[in-house]
Amino acid sequence: MPERTIRQEIMALIVDSTMTAKDLSQIIRISEKEVYPHLEHIAKSLRNDKEKRLVIEPSRCYQCGFIFKERRRLTSPSRCPRCRHEGISPPVFSIAKINRSSV
Ligand SMILES: [Zn+2]
Repeated sequence: MPERTIRQEIMALIVDSTMTAKDLSQIIRISEKEVYPHLEHIAKSLRNDKEKRLVIEPSRCYQCGFIFKERRRLTSPSRCPRCRHEGISPPVFSIAKINRSSV
């Protein structure tokens, strides 16, 4: 089951560590496009997890600082809706442990 292996590999890479889809694609040697479905699946499977969750640091426009907070998709936006600039930082992913004592 190669798919399961890739997913586990991605999870292991972003636990307590932050990476973009591009970072992951280079380490695992799959295309960036292939990384997103795995991340979506990880996000979904961790939604009901009591110990950890997928944290997404949203994309940001390099020119005006607009933050894509409302964005649902995990891919990088191509252009800023505010200033039309095309330099956008990619979203950064990590898996964080939920600290239940602080909730
Ligand atoms: Zn902008």
